[in-house]
Amino acid sequence: MNERDLNQGRPSRISDAANDSAIEAVTTFSGNKALMLDEPLIFELGSSETCGVDIDVMEPVESRLGGLERNKPIGLAGLSESETVRHYTRLSRQNYAIDLGLFPLGSCTMKHNPRLNEKMARVAGFSDIHPMQPVSTVQGALELIDELAHWLKTLTGMPAVAMSPKAGAHGELCGILAIRAALEARGDAREVILVPESAHGTNPATAAFAGYRVEEIPATEGGRVDVDALAARLGPDVAGVMITNPNTCGLFEPDMRKISDLVHAAGGLVYCDGANFNAIVGRVRPGDLGIDAMHINLHKTFSTPHGGGGPGSGPVVLSEALAPYAPLPYVTKSDDFFHLIEEEQSLSDDSDTFGRMTAFHGQMGMFTRALSYIMSHGADGLKQVSEDAVLNANYILRSMDDLLDAPFGHSGPCMHEALFSDKGLADGFSTIDVSKGLIDEGYHPMTMYFPLVVHGAMLVEPTETESKHALDNFIGSFRNVVTKAKEGDMSLLSAPHFAPRARLDETAAARKPILVWNEPETAEAAE
Ligand SMILES: *Cc1c(COP(=O)(O)O)cnc(C)c1O
Repeated sequence: MNERDLNQGRPSRISDAANDSAIEAVTTFSGNKALMLDEPLIFELGSSETCGVDIDVMEPVESRLGGLERNKPIGLAGLSESETVRHYTRLSRQNYAIDLGLFPLGSCTMKHNPRLNEKMARVAGFSDIHPMQPVSTVQGALELIDELAHWLKTLTGMPAVAMSPKAGAHGELCGILAIRAALEARGDAREVILVPESAHGTNPATAAFAGYRVEEIPATEGGRVDVDALAARLGPDVAGVMITNPNTCGLFEPDMRKISDLVHAAGGLVYCDGANFNAIVGRVRPGDLGIDAMHINLHKTFSTPHGGGGPGSGPVVLSEALAPYAPLPYVTKSDDFFHLIEEEQSLSDDSDTFGRMTAFHGQMGMFTRALSYIMSHGADGLKQVSEDAVLNANYILRSMDDLLDAPFGHSGPCMHEALFSDKGLADGFSTIDVSKGLIDEGYHPMTMYFPLVVHGAMLVEPTETESKHALDNFIGSFRNVVTKAKEGDMSLLSAPHFAPRARLDETAAARKPILVWNEPETAEAAE
């Protein structure tokens, strides 16, 4: 048992002199202080000698595990119900959440989730049903999927949508498998997918996972796809391109239509990463840009919690060329009855599905939340969503660009996220120090060192759900930290000072994680 105060979970880490003086030096804070509690592991709290519940000793039962049963106790801590609840509640308070504060992670679109959505998702008719129920008993749920599909097709100007992919990257795989199926069906299997530098990291990963060779297309000075370089590389071996739009520099690709025409003329197909559709929804229809497949992250564009808050959902809209290859299952309607098509129909059917991506129809809870968000805004309201998201990002861009280098700030407004570089920080200070300083200001750090095309990138996405007041608070903290990094304030190098754990060795944490708790004696013996 270690000596930490186990009863109250009070912070006890701030002890060594160096840290004390650093804290003294940190005098100007403008934000709230999150993450104040330290909390031992549950194994350190309780003892395996005790049991938290009263259960009569049971008669031994004959094992049916065929030799796979445990042969010794695993040392679970015996805690009472209230101790257990308190432990996990205290732990949950160490978690930064969108309900605690602004979440500036660029590209992640962490936005407020209206409570109405939660209420809808909890309606018993949606939450208490099971995918294996007879379809006649879940007509409402299938209608909801069909209605959401209709909205997605309308908003994107695309003729078809595959609803089942369970997140953005899964949607990418769906789109690329559809492209592969379409090319193979015309007897023209190709080998290469072109991915620009400004694409999201999941794009090349998806293409490689689907068996394609990935070739990179450079970005221009202005942070966009180099169209000439792309045109020069197109040829009979290129299956398609994957373009993130708006791209990870927070910029719209204005040449999208031209790129699509070039790719189609060379016999390829166009995948668009539309995870951040929130920046253009209601204003641009990807179907008008010649796109063949695009996933939409419902969990970014149409609220619905994600990250630690819940699962994602990544429906993929498809062009005429790809629609026949859409995955199973899908919902159709005939004679006022909704069907869930589970297998390929008759030979006369024009469906040529590439198969199945998930066991069932997709993320019902996320469909419900997304449709609730869509219907409560309506088409005009959704246009305002994207306008406000872009306005908020530009407010941050222009409130910071006198202090921080904004590499593409001169080329006009950004889309939904503002991108800065580490140029101008004092010698020995870098993006990581700004991130750690933000923790002491009570904020989750922004996305850092991504996109790779910008040195020491800081990518900030406020989303449309933040008020001007909330943005001003964040900007105040961000400016405070950046000023310290520019002036060479040494206390920043050991930030965070107000989190339960100070500066961690991030490399060791990633490369040598300790995932198993050992009793202290065992750990010492092993040393
Ligand atoms: C978030 C994101 C993805 C991946 O989405 P997941 O749901 O996390 O799989 C892909 N591309 C872009 C541009 C994104 O922002």
